[in-house]
Amino acid sequence: MLQIQRTSESFNVAVAEIAISADQCEVSFSGSPHGGIAALWFHFRIFNDGKDVLPSRMVLKLKHIMTMLGAGRGEFYPVIRYGEGEWKRLTDRIPSVREDGHRAVCWLADTPESGEYAEVAFCYPYGVKEFDTMLKDTGGYWTRDEIGVSAAGRSFFRISNCYGSESERRKGCYLFARQHAAETSGAWVLDGILRRLAERNVTFPVWCVPFADIDGVIDGNYGKDSFPQDINRSWGPHAPMRHENMVMIQDLNLWKLRVIPEDSAIFDFHSPGAAEKGVYSFLQKAVPADSRFYRWVQETGKALQPYSHDDFIKYGNYKKFAAWGGFYNLSEFAFNTLHISFASFETSYYEAGRQVLEIKDYRNIGAIFAERLISYLQ
Ligand SMILES: [Zn+2]
Repeated sequence: MLQIQRTSESFNVAVAEIAISADQCEVSFSGSPHGGIAALWFHFRIFNDGKDVLPSRMVLKLKHIMTMLGAGRGEFYPVIRYGEGEWKRLTDRIPSVREDGHRAVCWLADTPESGEYAEVAFCYPYGVKEFDTMLKDTGGYWTRDEIGVSAAGRSFFRISNCYGSESERRKGCYLFARQHAAETSGAWVLDGILRRLAERNVTFPVWCVPFADIDGVIDGNYGKDSFPQDINRSWGPHAPMRHENMVMIQDLNLWKLRVIPEDSAIFDFHSPGAAEKGVYSFLQKAVPADSRFYRWVQETGKALQPYSHDDFIKYGNYKKFAAWGGFYNLSEFAFNTLHISFASFETSYYEAGRQVLEIKDYRNIGAIFAERLISYLQ
């Protein structure tokens, strides 16, 4: 028989059912919103306990895609691995519509061998383990410091290549990822950036919070449109709306004292809606098109071809939910409160430049970003 099992980190699955017929196994499931408004992330294991002889093929049926954020008709490719093997994309996709009109999408895969498990996730997982591998691979270039605690009391950390000093201010940057916990494609891009910056041994100050919602990452939350307060809708203007924002604001203020604010920048790495393709950026509308920063973002879009959208610069000046209407996102906080240049970057969970994205592609996108950062800040 097949059994659904927890992964140690970022576990998320709901309403899972297993059905075995003569020619195939079917595992149907949905991602859980974990209390948020939108759902998207799933990550779990399917264990074959070896008590029965099972068909060799397995259908993975993702239910309720109409309530996932930006899922369209399910044109995306989740990932699978067997045991500790390499992650691979599930590209064998079959859309499915119920008689009442509800949509699902199925992928075909091999049934795990007797005594083995298959692990399935919406996109390549990226947790503390993967981050620690990056730290180890970059040989001590990055220093990790605890800067506070998360809402649940976990250690909240930031890394840096140097602290800089208030008496000798330099150009610098502050990088963020995982304001939305499940946005792992953004995390893999950041992984590529941090690796390349270390390889190039850059000396301008780079500070980075890789897990802005560390609780959500470990708990397997999607995190975007989380309830009651999305971290990226909690940046003021009058007060931080979550403890994590309070921690990050204090650290940003310390960083700002050590850099030349008008020549420095803050960058934030995200993933878009489930079925969106490519790489693109969000800027504040008020950034002048003839400014050095705007031109730099535009050139970054060109450097990222063919991964990037042709209209690389977009504006996110909307407030989706009235409950969050008055609160800043990080972009508004950087622009209106800190008066520091800011851009966020969205990288598809699955496809860019007409190719299905693998970990090496995300790291390559990150390496291109890193070279662009060097050109701006060196
Ligand atoms: Zn996001």
